[in-house]
Amino acid sequence: MPVPQPTLAGPDRLGGPRAPRHLADLDPGERRAAAEQLGQPGFRGDQLSRHYFARLTDDPDEMTDLPAADREPLAKALLPRLLTAERELSCDQGQTRKTLWRASGGAYVESVLMRYPDRVTMCVSSQAGCGMACPFCATGQAGLTRNLTAAEIVAQVVAGARALARDEVPGGPGRVSNVVFMGMGEPLANYSRVVAAVRRITDRVPDGLGISRRAVTVSTVGLVPAIGRLAGEGLPVRLAVSLHAPDDALRDQLVPVNRRWKVAEVLDAAWEYAAATGRRVSIEYALIRDINDQAWRADALADLLAGHLAHVNLIPLNPTPGSKWTASEPSVMREFEQRLARRSIPVTVRDTRGTEIDGACGQLAAGRAGAAQGG
Ligand code: SAH
Repeated sequence: MPVPQPTLAGPDRLGGPRAPRHLADLDPGERRAAAEQLGQPGFRGDQLSRHYFARLTDDPDEMTDLPAADREPLAKALLPRLLTAERELSCDQGQTRKTLWRASGGAYVESVLMRYPDRVTMCVSSQAGCGMACPFCATGQAGLTRNLTAAEIVAQVVAGARALARDEVPGGPGRVSNVVFMGMGEPLANYSRVVAAVRRITDRVPDGLGISRRAVTVSTVGLVPAIGRLAGEGLPVRLAVSLHAPDDALRDQLVPVNRRWKVAEVLDAAWEYAAATGRRVSIEYALIRDINDQAWRADALADLLAGHLAHVNLIPLNPTPGSKWTASEPSVMREFEQRLARRSIPVTVRDTRGTEIDGACGQLAAGRAGAAQGG
């Protein structure tokens, strides 16, 4: 079968409109400098940070500690509205909420809030579309539209945090405890903006949102040089590697970038990441019926992971429209799981929240983009 080619284009090699600059693109020093450039004292940068990251507001009318005449221009210059909610879908009695956002230039992205008894996870997008072209993934089919800015990524988390703080999510007022980069896009193909976003998400309030670095997961197809770079950032976030096959022959098809960096290289980079950060790596494995769910592949996966700091997440495939692939049979999934468990590989079957709202994989935005293009 013809194999789609991944695109590894960097942020600025993609044309198209860009998002306006926002406070959350800047570190605290840059925010002060930006305030000064606007003819304001530097500490206005800190005041705006407090509004955005602590009070979760970008509404100038609420900024009563700023001179009345300066509120509007400051908010306009440093807190422009980046994302507009186009659609909101929920299920699980409102505890799973998916938002389709329109960003500058008409790009669509989505984020999902998932409330559990003990935590709230925000799943965020790092790019509009994706260039990795994995054939089982809805986002992969549409290609890459553009990279999101750090502030556009952070805005997805802020929106969730705001909804929780204002008691708009069933279960009472709450906070975002976890952030996973498992929405649209390949985070490590948008490296500097994703790292900046992780800093804003994890920096202490009011410089950032104050979410624990240990509660942030960056998921990747396996861009080996970028994994090495991330290991050196001093940001011990969890790394998830979307493996999906233990053998290069199959992974070349399922994750086309595997033709550039093979399974062995990706896993070596993962083990180096684990050694540098002390954090167990998540190995993501979508179980696709009769494609990658054979017992021998479970054994081959166990061989690769035995003795390493790894945890396997088995994800029943969420079938995408038009694809002939579907999830493995429950008995096959159990067998796959047990074969790993018997070899003492930590393994869980991922909870597939939100499948009834196309929750898992960019299907909403892919559908919207398709509709926008008359598809
Ligand atoms: N580009 C990154 C992050 C986004 S996707 C990555 O690939 O890791 C987040 C996870 O969802 C990845 O493990 C991806 O392989 C998986 N995924 C994509 N489409 C899926 C589908 N249709 N069913 C189940 N998992 C899917």
